[in-house]
Amino acid sequence: MRLKVLPLISTIFLLVINAASQASETDRSWNQSVEPFKIAGNVYYVGANEITSYLITTPKGHILIDGGFKETVPQITANIVKLGFKVKDVKYLLNSQAHYDHAAGLADLKKLTGAKMLASVEDAKLLARGGKGDPNFGDQYLFDPVITDKTFSDGWELKLGGITMTANVTAGHTKGCTTWTTTTEDAGKKLNVIFVCSTTAPGYKLVGNEKYPEIVADFEQTFKRMKTFKVDIFLSAHASQFGMEDKLALLRNGARTNPFIDPDGYLEFVNATEKAFRDRLASQSAKP
Ligand SMILES: [Zn+2]
Repeated sequence: MRLKVLPLISTIFLLVINAASQASETDRSWNQSVEPFKIAGNVYYVGANEITSYLITTPKGHILIDGGFKETVPQITANIVKLGFKVKDVKYLLNSQAHYDHAAGLADLKKLTGAKMLASVEDAKLLARGGKGDPNFGDQYLFDPVITDKTFSDGWELKLGGITMTANVTAGHTKGCTTWTTTTEDAGKKLNVIFVCSTTAPGYKLVGNEKYPEIVADFEQTFKRMKTFKVDIFLSAHASQFGMEDKLALLRNGARTNPFIDPDGYLEFVNATEKAFRDRLASQSAKP
């Protein structure tokens, strides 16, 4: 199962580079509908086959992480309802990274839910610009701008209905890339849950990037940081990064232990993306 994850990660690097617009073939293939499901405890999957969206429920209202493409929004809202929750009960919208495949649906979702948009200081700027002036993609991947109601810095905690979501700013993929961590109770066990932003650098200019001079230092810091998290449930912004399809099949076949508990898969992902980053850095540094 985990062996399949690694080739998929490299596929994603290529696909991200080749994605031409929001309506490209690749984007459509990432936006296929998935029957929503409970991952563990109060954490639910409401996203598409590759572009993820997570609902964290509490008695005081819910939290939604990521809005997918603009075209993902009808799936997300329908999935929330299918699970028996109300769209209007979503109180906070969070974002892993201010890139169009995870942020383009947020403006519509904000209108539909009436929720408050929370984002890191740096990604809030890119969200407000609708993706304009991305340090690596320029104006290539634009989306409906969304205004952040409250910005936060690394380590900030969102508390709602007895749960705490911690914002870990793991910069590099975007300047304010946010990896959220929380805990959930499942089958009498307390589990550490991680929602990885991303540690990939698809087509990125690491050497001499004038729009993001500190990009290498940020990635270095992020890789160090990623290895310190205690992880049981491994989730990420892209479903293939944590092998969702295979894990979901196991879950639906009545697996005795929750297949989403995968601390080894998490470390494998971090190490594989770190190696890709170092290879890219070495090849760019070697050029005159
Ligand atoms: Zn991205």
